[in-house]
Amino acid sequence: MLDLLLPQRCVVCGCSGTQLCAVCRDELQRIEPPLCARCGAPTAWPVERCRECTGRRLAFASARAAVAYDAAARRLVHAWKERGLRRLAAETAQLVAERLPAPEVEALTFVPADRGRRLERGHNPAERLALELAVRWELPCLPLLERTRGGRQRGSSAVERRTVRGSFRATGAAPRKVVVIDDVYTTGATAAAAASALRAAGARRVEAVAFARALRRG
Ligand SMILES: [Zn+2]
Ligand SMILES: [Zn+2]
Repeated sequence: MLDLLLPQRCVVCGCSGTQLCAVCRDELQRIEPPLCARCGAPTAWPVERCRECTGRRLAFASARAAVAYDAAARRLVHAWKERGLRRLAAETAQLVAERLPAPEVEALTFVPADRGRRLERGHNPAERLALELAVRWELPCLPLLERTRGGRQRGSSAVERRTVRGSFRATGAAPRKVVVIDDVYTTGATAAAAASALRAAGARRVEAVAFARALRRG
C-alpha cells in the first residue's frame, strides 16, 4: 500500500514521477548477442562455451538475462528487493519479456528465498518476477523448489533422494522442460544448483532466466 501512497521517485536517478523513469529504463544496458550459448555471457562471436563457463558443470541448458547488472540495474534491484517496491517486478518482467521470447517449456519456477530473508522482506523478488513472466509468456508458474539446510543426504525417502548438492531440492516431480527464474545471475552457481535439483526430480531440460546478469570485464 505504501507503494501507492508515497510520492513516486525513480529508484535509479531520483527524479519524481515514476519508480523507473523512461530515461533510466532506456539506458539500462541490454544484453545483446552474440552470446555464449550456454551461460549467456556476451562474446565477440557466437560460441557454445566461453571463458566464463568452460569446464564448469552447469546443470542448466542455457542461461539468459535482459540487462547487465551494472550500477543502474543494481540500484533498481536493490530498491525492488530491500524496499519491497512491488511495482518494479512488473517493470523488470516487461524488460525481460521484451528481450527474450517465451521459452518452449512446460512451466516456470523460481529460486526460493531463504527463509530468514523472506520473512524479513515479506516477499521473494524471484517469485514475483516469475509470476509476472508467467502472465506475459502464458505459461504456468509452479513452486517447484525449496531450500535445504546444507543439502545433506540422509535416509532414502523420495524427498531426500531429491536433495542435491547446493541448497535446493524439488518439492515434487518436475516437468520435463522448465525455466527457473531468478532476479540476478552472478556466477551461475545458484542457477546451476536449482537446475540440478530440478533434473534430479525428473526435468530433462532446464533453462535459467534472470532479470540482470553480472558481466565480467575484458
Ligand atoms: Zn530515472
Ligand atoms: Zn559461457
